Amino acid sequence: MALERTFSMIKPDATRRNITGKVLAKLEDAGLRVVAQKRIHMSLAQAEGFYAVHKERPFFGELTEMMSSGPTIVQVLEGDNAIARNREVMGATNPAEADEGTIRKEFALSIGENTVHGSDGPDTAKQEIAYFFSETEIVG
Ligand code: ADP
Ligand code: MG
Repeated sequence: MALERTFSMIKPDATRRNITGKVLAKLEDAGLRVVAQKRIHMSLAQAEGFYAVHKERPFFGELTEMMSSGPTIVQVLEGDNAIARNREVMGATNPAEADEGTIRKEFALSIGENTVHGSDGPDTAKQEIAYFFSETEIVG
């Protein structure tokens, strides 16, 4: 299996509820290792840049406002097949459709406030990591 890196965020709904440790435990239990991490408060412009791929979607305003409404933990996670493994432990975007045991099933409040972000492929992982981290901040 290939050792991969992916980009992860623990979203403002989780920092607000003080459950970031519980979310991180799920990520670590899934075999993912934190190789970079920081707590930030994104500006609206930063959130709009990060989610630019969704700018035509009807929920873009709601999403970027929510993501700039409070602190977020941004992370680089490493592990075998980290991208797919992370998506698996996150669960479906809509918590109502998420499998038992997933982060979103357990913690998400709604399809918008769904606790975590994870890259959806190798290209987005690379791009999203570079949006928040320099190479020297990643310590595998
Ligand atoms: P995922 O985070 O599972 O990759 P998407 O990339 O489709 O999902 O969407 C990005 C984020 O936008 C979601 O995690 C969620 O916070 C928000 N979002 C997605 N769909 C909706 C929706 N219908 N209404 C409100 N927010 C949404
Ligand atoms: Mg996505």
